[in-house]
Parts: sequence; C-alpha cells; structure tokens
Amino acid sequence: MKQLTPVIAPPQYIEIFEGIRDNKKASAKAPLVAAQAAIRDRFIEYETRFNINTLEAIPASTLGGITAELRSCYGRNKGMNALKHAIKNAQPVGRLIWCPYCGATTPGSYDHYLPAEKFPEFAAHALNLVPSCTRCNSIKDDDWVYGGPRGYYHFYRDAIPAAPFLTVSITSDAAVQAVGATFAVQQAGMSDPEWTLLEAHFRQLKLIELYDSYSNDLINTVLRSARSHITAGGGSAAAFLANEAQENADLYGDFGWRAVLLRAMSAHPDLVDWIAWL
Ligand SMILES: [Zn+2]
Repeated sequence: MKQLTPVIAPPQYIEIFEGIRDNKKASAKAPLVAAQAAIRDRFIEYETRFNINTLEAIPASTLGGITAELRSCYGRNKGMNALKHAIKNAQPVGRLIWCPYCGATTPGSYDHYLPAEKFPEFAAHALNLVPSCTRCNSIKDDDWVYGGPRGYYHFYRDAIPAAPFLTVSITSDAAVQAVGATFAVQQAGMSDPEWTLLEAHFRQLKLIELYDSYSNDLINTVLRSARSHITAGGGSAAAFLANEAQENADLYGDFGWRAVLLRAMSAHPDLVDWIAWL
C-alpha cells in the first residue's frame, strides 16, 4: 500500500463538478444549479477537513433532497470520464496496477471514500474518488461511522506507516514438496491512532485472508521466474527474488504483501529446494 497523488486544482474541485453538472439534462441540472451555494459550502468543508485531517467529524449531508441528481453526476458522461483520466494520470507509472486498498487485484472501479449513499454531494468530488478493485469497493460499500475514528485509509490523505506492520511466516514441507505462507499484522512501534486505522483497514477488508489465499499463486509464479532466470545464466535465485522484492517495494511500499513475501522467500534457507520441487 502506498499513498496516491490527488488530482491538483486548478481548476477548483467545485469547478470540475460544475462542468459535469452543466452537461446534465435540464431536469437533473436545474435542482443542482438551485443548490449551488450549498454544494460549494460542502466542497469547502470536505477540502478543509481533508487538509487538517478531521474528515471523520464531517457533519451529515444537508442535501438529501437531491440525492438522485447529485449521484447522477457520477456516471457515464464526458466530464466524469475526463476526471477519471486525470485521477489515473496523476499517479506514478505502475502505481495503479494494483488496487490501493488491498494491493492484490486490479483497480477496475472507483470507491467513493465518503459513501455516495450518505454523502451524495461528493459523488463527483475528485478527492472523494479513489481507484479501487470491485472486491474492496463492494466490501467497503456505504460503511461510514459518523464521528469516527475512520476505518479505512484515504489514499490521497493518509501516509502509510513506515513501520514493519506486515509479517509473513513461510512453511516449507519437504515431505510433500510444498511451500505456504501465513501473514499477520502487528503494531510495530506505530502510534495508537496509526494502529487503529491500519488494523481496522486490514480487518474490514479481510486482507490477511486475501494475502494468505493469493500467496500460493505468487510463490509458484516467482519460483518459476527464478528458475527461468537461473537457466538463462542470470545468477542466484536469492538475488533474483531480493531484486523483485525491491522493485515491488519501490512501487507499493516496503510492507506491501508482495514485497514482504518475496523478501522472506529470498532469505529462506530452503529456496534452492523449492525451485528443485517445481
Ligand atoms: Zn482491492
């Protein structure tokens, strides 16, 4: 997991929204124009709280009467498509190969960080749209606890701790020639608020279970790559895996699950045996 880069104004986020709104048909546009001042106030509230990190205390929506019109701005339209492109283009190359929330699958959708059902005015706010896989998006859904603490990372806002919060234990069984991995999270020197957020994020998205189940495929794939590397005269498997781990860490953080697993594999005394078992 690694922080994302927010789309940067200018234009202001409210202007992006108004551009989307102005392309709506008249029946949807009219109530949105009528509520323009209130929507602007709510955008300012979001951005102020985002900047000073008090988003968890944002008051409930005051715009429930035009929920459908607000939510219709997040849909297939020219302005929203342009905004989605801008969000993707703001990220370093490769950062969005994996979903920011889980780091395990492809981010084929956008999560509304403040759920659109409860905060429809932010359905088309650039800071509220976070690339996400459909699994994380559907688990998170309209989950929002008023008054917090927040239960998920906001990847434009939150720095991921530099502490070694994710560990892996590798089991190597020569009798059946099998390698397995079991992940865990730990506080690892993080402050209590940092740990509360990380622990909730992992627990709610069931990330440990996800990594445990995905690790078999990754182990198999990288061992096969290591074997090809050796066959081609490329040097030791340990160096190959350590390099793969570092490349992964550069893009997704030192304690992303792939980097943690590859690093542990590269240092394991049975690595050469595993390749022979393939
Ligand atoms: Zn995900």
